[in-house]
Order: sequence, then structure tokens, then C-alpha cells
Amino acid sequence: QITIDKIAAGEVIERPASVVKELVENAIDAGSGSVTVEIKEGGISYMRIADNGCGIARDDVQNAFLRHSTSKIRAAEDLEHIASLGFRGEALSSIAAVSQVEMITKTKEQLLGTRYQIAGGKEEELEDTGASDGTTFLIRQLFYNVPARRKFLKTPITEASHVGDLMTRLALSHPEISFQFINNGQSRLHTSGNGNLKDVIYHVYGREITANLIPLEYKNNGLSLSGYIGAPLISRGNRNFENYFINGRYVKSNIIYRAIEDAYKDFSMQHKFPFTVFHITIDGEHVDVNVHPTKMELRFNNQQEVYNTLYEAIDSALHGREL
Ligand code: ADP
Ligand code: MG
Repeated sequence: QITIDKIAAGEVIERPASVVKELVENAIDAGSGSVTVEIKEGGISYMRIADNGCGIARDDVQNAFLRHSTSKIRAAEDLEHIASLGFRGEALSSIAAVSQVEMITKTKEQLLGTRYQIAGGKEEELEDTGASDGTTFLIRQLFYNVPARRKFLKTPITEASHVGDLMTRLALSHPEISFQFINNGQSRLHTSGNGNLKDVIYHVYGREITANLIPLEYKNNGLSLSGYIGAPLISRGNRNFENYFINGRYVKSNIIYRAIEDAYKDFSMQHKFPFTVFHITIDGEHVDVNVHPTKMELRFNNQQEVYNTLYEAIDSALHGREL
């Protein structure tokens, strides 16, 4: 079992940011209103992910760390989780296989919380402890028992910037959750969780971008868009500022990048990489679920239709037309 978990971990857990992604997604699934992520040395030596969600009952703690023992029943076409498709129920077991994990968790119903320690897939401790509602993970020494993996990690600065980028995307995709990110003792991001996307954009990108946003709202046959696109004068050096979320998840799609960039290019020749932050809600049947789990690439069944819809919506927003 430990060997299998270690192999599975090789596919799910690539670097500190993959651990943070899995644990924060769990925190979101647990109904948390606030999530704090703290890392040291790029997350390689230390990561703390704390939430105020539903917690895990003591009787379920050990189970949660078993492969495929997930409590959630999800259909293959459950788009909500498309980004983590392929490793459903594998995150905790995988993380525990390749690091030293300490978890403190408490449900509202319990008076005492539970402290659980597991390292390299081997359980070390399970005991009662005083705790507040929610779950805190401490992850130490990532890949301490997988030297080959550890060798492939980049510098702490690079690994920390991956975590930072991820936290930014998480904050933008969930304005209703307060996210804090602390790197080497310094707070890097702290959103209010008041549900206002524009406030998050202001917090992350500052005044200039926030002052130049065009609302993007669209709804038609199975696809809706909601968010903001940058005024044409705001243009960036790469695709990093083209943010979009599909059914609440950060994924990538070449069709969507192209629709965005083509609409801007046709509007005004000089805008190669626009700024965008918007949510796409789309019926599951329009999406190909055969997606690579870590690359987060998504395919649509009708590429042309998605392209046309997006292009049209952005073009209209740029021209100030109602759709
Ligand atoms: P999955 O998320 O696919 O179910 P995971 O290995 O990520 O698999 O998590 C296993 C289970 O542990 C979850 O289904 C959930 O019941 C529980 N769990 C994990 N993290 C949390 C959390 N932060 N709060 C509450 N429950 C959690
Ligand atoms: Mg999970």
C-alpha cells in the first residue's frame, strides 16, 4: 500500500504548489469561509494550510488518508472537480506518502479535536487535542523519502512563486472566501471574503487595472460568463493575466485563450495579451472529461461554438454593446 501511494503521489504531487492546491480544494469543499496558507523555504520544509470548514470526525480521520476512501460520490462528468479528475480520493494518501504530515481537525459536533500524524505513509500518532472548528495541516519535508523527486524541485523562491500564483487564482476564483498567504513570515495576500470580485482584483492587481475594467456578463444555451475584462489600454506581456475559471476551477483551454486574444486583436491591433478575470459556467455535456489531471487542460465537445460565444461576448463588451 505504501509503495502504491508513493507511485500515485508521483502523479499527483509534483511540488509544494500541488500540495497546497489539493489541500485548499479540500478546504473549499469543506465549506470554509477562510483559508490560510503559510509556507517556509518555498514550502519544501514547511507548509501550513488552515481552514474553518466542517472538519473531520475522529472516526473518519484514518479513513481519509486511505486511497480512494473519499467520502464524496462523484460522477465522472462532475465538472466541479474536473481539475482534480483522476486523483479523486488520492490527495491525502499521496501527500502522506511523500512527506511528514500533522493534521489537527475538529467538527462542530465534537468537544475535542483530533491530532493525527503520519509520515511516509506510516501512521505515527492519533490523539485527542483541544482545537477550534476546522482543519489544519502541517506538511514538513516534502519528498524527504523520495530523493529523486526532491532533486527536481526548483529553488525556494521559484517554488514560493508557484504557490503565490496559485493563491492568487484561488482568491480570484472564490471571492466569497477569505484567503491569506504568508511566505517566510510575511503576509503576501489577504482577501476579505466579502464576495466582491472587483475587491479581489483590486487587492491583487491594484488601482490601475481595477479602474479600467469592463464588466462581462453573458448567458445563453448552457453557457454563462460573469466577470471583468480589461479595457483595451491594459495589455500585458504574457498570458498570465488572462484569468478565467470554468465551473469554479482553474483550467486552461487554448480555445478560450484564442477567443479572448482574437476579440482584442480585432478590436484594436495592439493588444496581444489582455487582462481578464471571469467565470464560465457550462453544462457538463459540453465538455470532454478526458483531461490530463495535472496539466489542467480542458477540451470542449463543440470547440467552434465555445469560441464563437466567447468571441461574441468579449467583442460586445469591448464595443459597449448589450448582448
Ligand atoms: P477527495 O478530496 O477526492 O475526497 P482527498 O484525499 O483529498 O480526497 O480527501 C479525502 C477526504 O478527507 C475528503 O473526502 C474529506 O472527507 C476529507 N477531508 C480532507 N480535507 C478536509 C478538510 N480540509 N476539511 C474537511 N474534510 C477534509
Ligand atoms: Mg481532495
